[in-house]
Order: sequence, then structure tokens, then C-alpha cells
Amino acid sequence: LVHAVNVTKSFYGNQVLKGIDLDVHEGEVVCLLGPSGSGKTTFLRCINQLETINGGRIWVDGDLMGYEDRGGTLHRLADKKIAAQRREIGMVFQRFNLFPHMTALENVAEAPVHVKGVDKKTARAEARELLERVGLGERCDHYPAQLSGGQQQRVAIARALAMKPKLMLFDEPTSALDPELVGEVLEVMRELAEGGMTMIVVTHEIAFARDVADRVVFMDGGVVVEQGPPREVIAKPQHERTRAFLRRIL
Ligand code: ATP
Repeated sequence: LVHAVNVTKSFYGNQVLKGIDLDVHEGEVVCLLGPSGSGKTTFLRCINQLETINGGRIWVDGDLMGYEDRGGTLHRLADKKIAAQRREIGMVFQRFNLFPHMTALENVAEAPVHVKGVDKKTARAEARELLERVGLGERCDHYPAQLSGGQQQRVAIARALAMKPKLMLFDEPTSALDPELVGEVLEVMRELAEGGMTMIVVTHEIAFARDVADRVVFMDGGVVVEQGPPREVIAKPQHERTRAFLRRIL
């Protein structure tokens, strides 16, 4: 479903991604691990076009992201077309970024109505279902400020799912949460994974990676250092850099 080839990205001459190759199959859950600054977040943002890549190519479900290939030369797509590509990808951030003046239900129903043109009644019914699925059926009419961090993050997941994405990207979804709220968010993610959603998750939650990921990808210094089934990469890392990282966080 995701096919990334030799992706590079620099900020002001600082090369943060130095040629990333990654394939993610439909239904696969991939956890990206690596030290701070290794480029994990930047790579996620490149997949859904929040950043423009400097080199390489990324396909999602066969679509070349951000560009049109005309006889081997890449031409940047019009903003509208990029927006349409982005709609297929759900993203959940470290900070929940809910609209503070809208209830949980309104937050979830907003994009389907305003971006996809779904009628309000249908969107609200679907939003209610999604909120029930993330365990917040009783909180539909609460505003973000009336919800805990874990509840807000679950609303953010429901909001991403409301657009019926092909792929979900999670950028350290639990790292801004108080420790006692982490579990409820990881549980929702686990259920989503079990339901067959294709997911790329940047996380420091090694237990989650070990239990839920089909594959773990370890990044350092803008490259993929090693990857494989969690049992292999986490229990028997082949590279010293992976071992050093795991020693620090385990
Ligand atoms: P973390 O776990 O801390 O989020 P990360 O592996 O996700 O780390 P990135 O956030 O991708 O790493 O950052 C990689 C490098 O790119 C960092 O050195 C960061 O300062 C730099 N960087 C990221 N975004 C920008 C930006 N918009 N402008 C300039 N530099 C940036």
C-alpha cells in the first residue's frame, strides 16, 4: 500500500532523511522506532505531504504522492490534487489538535461534512458510531476541555477514521499523555490494527511495538538501520546502534 523509494528531505541544508526505502503492505502495522531527531516524524509528514520531499518517490495505493510523472520528469501536482491525496490518509499527532469550540461529535463529523460533502445526519450518525468504537459513546456532547488527554486523543483517532482512510499514520500518539492514560489509547490502536487497518506508528512504546506491530523499522540519522519482525529486531537487534537505543529505553 505504501511504497517509498530513496526519499530524501533537508531543512536549510540539514539532510534529515538520507534515502529512506519502505514498503508497507495492506493491513500491515509498522512501528517506526529510533532516537529523537532520527527523522521519524519527518518521514511520516512526507508520506502525507505535510512536507515536500527533495528526492525519491512515495506511492500510496498506487498514487505517486505530490507529483505527476510525465515521461520520467516529475511535476508538482496542483494543491487541490494534493489535498485529495491527503484525504485518503488519516493522521494522529502527538497533540490532539481538536477544535476547542466543537463537541467531540462535531469534531468527528466536521471533515466528512465540509470536505467530503456527506450530509449532516449521516455524518453525525457515523461520528457517533466511531466514538462508540473508541469507547466514548457517552461523551459525544463534551467539549475537548471537558475530556482527559486520553479521551481527546481517542476523539482525534475517531476524527481521522471518519474520513475512511486507506492508511493511518500515528506520530507519537501517547507521548503527550499522563502515563495512566496511555493504555486506553494504545488499546484503541490495537483494536484498529486487529481490524485490519494499515498503520505506520512512530512510538517509543516498545511493548506496543512488540505486541501489535507486524514489523519494526529502526531509524537513526535519517536512514533505516534495520527492520524485521518485532521479535527479531527488539529481542535480537543486529546493529550496535539499535542495541544502544534499546538499552536506553528498555
Ligand atoms: P522525535 O522523536 O524527537 O520527534 P524524530 O525522529 O521524529 O524525533 P524529526 O522530528 O523528524 O525526528 O526531526 C529530524 C530532524 O529534522 C531534527 O534535527 C529536527 O530539528 C529537524 N527538523 C524537523 N522539522 C524541521 C523543520 N520544519 N525545520 C527545520 N528543521 C526541522
